[in-house]
Amino acid sequence: MSQQPLPPNLHVDTLAVRAAVDRSQYGENSEALYLTSGYVQPSAEAAAARFAGEEDGYTYGRSGNPTVSSFEMRLAALEGSEAALATSSGMSAITLMLLSLLKAGDHVVFSQSLFGSTIKLIGSEFARFGVTSTSVPQTDLAAWQAAIQPNTKILFAETPTNPLTDVCDIAALADMAHNAGAWLAVDNCFATPILQRPIALGCDIVTHSGTKYLDGQGRVMAGALCASEAMVKEKFLPVMKNSGLVLSPFNAWVVLKGLETLDIRMKAQSANAHALALWLQDHPQVQRVHYPALPSHPQHALAMKQMSNLGGAVLSFDVKANDPEQARARAFHVLNQLQVLSLCTNLGDTKSLLTHPASTSHGKLAEAQRQAAGIGQGLIRVAVGLEHIQDIQNDLLRGLDSL
Ligand SMILES: *Cc1c(COP(=O)(O)O)cnc(C)c1O
Repeated sequence: MSQQPLPPNLHVDTLAVRAAVDRSQYGENSEALYLTSGYVQPSAEAAAARFAGEEDGYTYGRSGNPTVSSFEMRLAALEGSEAALATSSGMSAITLMLLSLLKAGDHVVFSQSLFGSTIKLIGSEFARFGVTSTSVPQTDLAAWQAAIQPNTKILFAETPTNPLTDVCDIAALADMAHNAGAWLAVDNCFATPILQRPIALGCDIVTHSGTKYLDGQGRVMAGALCASEAMVKEKFLPVMKNSGLVLSPFNAWVVLKGLETLDIRMKAQSANAHALALWLQDHPQVQRVHYPALPSHPQHALAMKQMSNLGGAVLSFDVKANDPEQARARAFHVLNQLQVLSLCTNLGDTKSLLTHPASTSHGKLAEAQRQAAGIGQGLIRVAVGLEHIQDIQNDLLRGLDSL
């Protein structure tokens, strides 16, 4: 909205701490938190021009807020997108995208490893309004191509995926979508723009859960869509004004501050995760470790190319077991011995968080869907934080060594 008083051609690191709306007349150095739902208009004429969209200016909290604008400018700078639009959560970002781009009779092709609520949203909720969809194995490009129909409007991928860290080829999917006259959307929650910038690879829309790494300290819920200025202004903003999926100014301020340290957090947490993955892979009670930076990862080469040579901060591993029942008991045992790390169904925190996907995030999926997604009862996901690596290892060792 407001013009940036910054010179052009600044580096991304600089924009991560500087991109924001203008300072107020008080000269605050930390961006101001504007907790207000309405805005006083300078004149009746100005109000009319603002409501008609002929003049920039804030009118009402559902249409914009300066603190929210600062978060949007900063995130767009990091993602390398022309524009961004903030939403109240990651799921409201995805809801806004689907509401804005689809109508009854349209079709969506999506990865079967998308975030669980995203699968339900497309496959169940939007299906009630006449949107059809086909889910495909995340890494099988031929399956994506075969699923495309004349009425396909969106291809939707998430890379790396939760919790198995499957990686798909963003540039190849973007070409495929564009050849079919469709858009490619990528959920960039796990990699964040520090590791991966889907827009530069041809992706049209990046979706974010700001609740995760963008905040980075597990404090608030937030979300965002990053896309071209035309798409944000013409498609997303009108639907936003009528649907009210807005981000609160307070949460925007928290996430705005989180972006300032995103780069150093992602690099440090990726380094911790890599060290943990190497260590887990040698433990006799561990069947398999899923982590993109390990050469054993099926898309290792693609991941390193697409993700700035880093594996990200999330890994998962299977404990050894003879059958699903024993696997579940053993995974529960490891989780129940934790004294430092948190048993918590979130990720993107400075604190390491562990989950048992088969009984939590993926617990509501039908058994066949869970099997198709490859999520066994012995699987444990670790969203690795900033604790000392030896303390992380020791906390897991207590459970693993007593299996
Ligand atoms: C958490 C998450 C979401 C949903 O975000 P909320 O902020 O919880 O609504 C979407 N996609 C991925 C990959 C996530 O991890």
